[in-house]
Amino acid sequence: TNVSSKLFLQNLINDYKLSKSSILVTACFNKLDTQLYIDKFHIATAILNVLDNAVKYGSNKLKVSTKTLGNYFKITIEDDGIGVAKEHRQKVFEKFYRVENTNVHDVKGLGLGLFYVHQIIKAHGGTVDLHSAKGKGTTIIINIPI
Ligand code: ATP
Ligand code: MG
Repeated sequence: TNVSSKLFLQNLINDYKLSKSSILVTACFNKLDTQLYIDKFHIATAILNVLDNAVKYGSNKLKVSTKTLGNYFKITIEDDGIGVAKEHRQKVFEKFYRVENTNVHDVKGLGLGLFYVHQIIKAHGGTVDLHSAKGKGTTIIINIPI
């Protein structure tokens, strides 16, 4: 379906904020309201997976920003959690991959969240990247073709 990127993300983030009252989410959307042709359910679920990871892995301050660059709509989700060490950075998108000994709150998971995110974004012809340094937070960058 065709959606307004601004409305779609604003609603998603507002709902998320309401469900997690102790989490601070700052949103910074690009002025241009780019139309996106996406599977709303799967893209929303993918973004929620990324937001949940940020919270699960130690962050209570998230920053979401968007930008339209050429033929791509870019969504950046930044957290100030525990980060991902270099040796794990590529592997976290693999099925069932989890990083050992980082269970800050003894967090449980299957290691499927980012695998799903990657599959969904790939199916839309886009890309997803993770930038991080251990102890310095994580940034997930999603690019979706317009
Ligand atoms: P699931 O999402 O299936 O419940 P999960 O969160 O462990 O389980 P993924 O979302 O695929 O699985 O993430 C894989 C691993 O990457 C996590 O176990 C965690 O170690 C690391 N990770 C993911 N996001 C972050 C983040 N924002 N900060 C720090 N580590 C992260
Ligand atoms: Mg997860």
